Amino acid sequence: MTIGEYFRCPSCGQEFAIKLQMDETYKVFDWPIHVSCPSCGTEMDLYFNAQGLQPKELLIKDADRCITMGYSAVLPLTKDLYFRNLSKNERIMASTPFMNFSFFNASFDAAGPLGAWASWLMSNLIPYRHYLAVLHPLITHEPCNVKAVSAKLAALSESPDYKELKNEEECVDAFMDLIHATYRNLVIRPYEGTMMKQHFNKMLGYLLKADKNQLSILKEKVVGVMNTHDWLWDEGTKTVADIVGGIQKLMPAMSFAVKGVFNVPSGEELYIMTVGYKEVDSWFASCYEALAHFLPFVVGLNNAYKNGDADKFVVDGLERAGILEDFAKLDASGRINAIRQDAELAAIYEPVLNNRIRNAIQHKGDKFNATTQTIVYHYDTTDDSKVMEYRLIDVAYMVFLQLLHLLEAIQFVGILEKRLRTI
Ligand SMILES: [Zn+2]
Repeated sequence: MTIGEYFRCPSCGQEFAIKLQMDETYKVFDWPIHVSCPSCGTEMDLYFNAQGLQPKELLIKDADRCITMGYSAVLPLTKDLYFRNLSKNERIMASTPFMNFSFFNASFDAAGPLGAWASWLMSNLIPYRHYLAVLHPLITHEPCNVKAVSAKLAALSESPDYKELKNEEECVDAFMDLIHATYRNLVIRPYEGTMMKQHFNKMLGYLLKADKNQLSILKEKVVGVMNTHDWLWDEGTKTVADIVGGIQKLMPAMSFAVKGVFNVPSGEELYIMTVGYKEVDSWFASCYEALAHFLPFVVGLNNAYKNGDADKFVVDGLERAGILEDFAKLDASGRINAIRQDAELAAIYEPVLNNRIRNAIQHKGDKFNATTQTIVYHYDTTDDSKVMEYRLIDVAYMVFLQLLHLLEAIQFVGILEKRLRTI
């Protein structure tokens, strides 16, 4: 079903028409709509639910020639339905966002895998998306609020024989189970075959099979260069809880993964109407920091798996011992340069740790062009002419990949701690 609505910019009065691609899910969720006014730059957050398009004060009855766009909660948009200046008749002639997208990309079997994936996410993750954020402060509270965590999880499990949690360790284990479930629901089948996922499986296998002595040495060396406990609760899980809470806004970007495209930027001219650049940039920056701070752990684990010693890095046949301490002293971009020596680590972290994007966001040098839907990053404070440009949807997709790697990182720490506690 396609619904047409009209609204206007509250600052400059610019009129918009929006063609909403809807299915029965609009009755269950508030679908996020984000529009950046090209005439005055005002960022507008609207949403669509069973009561129609909201907020009502922005709605107008009708408009003649005006800026027209399509909207889908799950699909990216093509140029044909993004910010066209169309008359009423032209709008009636324009196809739906779904049809348009299918025509645009015949190889993208939009009806099949995307539909199945979207309904999977709707029933298995989206209803529970706020749980991590609700549980996080209860678990990190001093002392851990065991009763409240238990009550929240009882509501989530919907099982009559749910056992009450007794102590902080059980709360942490339950939280880690939720992290694992979130990850499983976000891992789209084509991701299984990637180098990123295979590396994760190998590291996980090592953590599950290594004996207590090997794990104690690994922990000792990693803890010598970073505070894994603080990273886990102040950065890793906090960042993940925040983004998972708004995961529905990344769905059109995630469809690249459904198609099996994992290189970013993808090179496809697509648009997204579920999220604005400020939120995407803020997510990108917090994921970047959390991942960059985690690198000593992953380098130590990777060394332990490949070279039998967390502190031994093998580069082109040359062995360097004691490298973890040197590595941890580097700043984020130095760390990224260093991991280029390991093809697997480079393939995983380089695409999502773009320090030019991070620098630009940090210095408020990110500017948005609503008409082309690109973010211009002024990454050098001493030379404003130095810029990099990315499509909003591509940066949103980088955030999704960052989120996957953060969920992997959290599982590494959680499993190491749990095994050291229980073996
Ligand atoms: Zn405006």
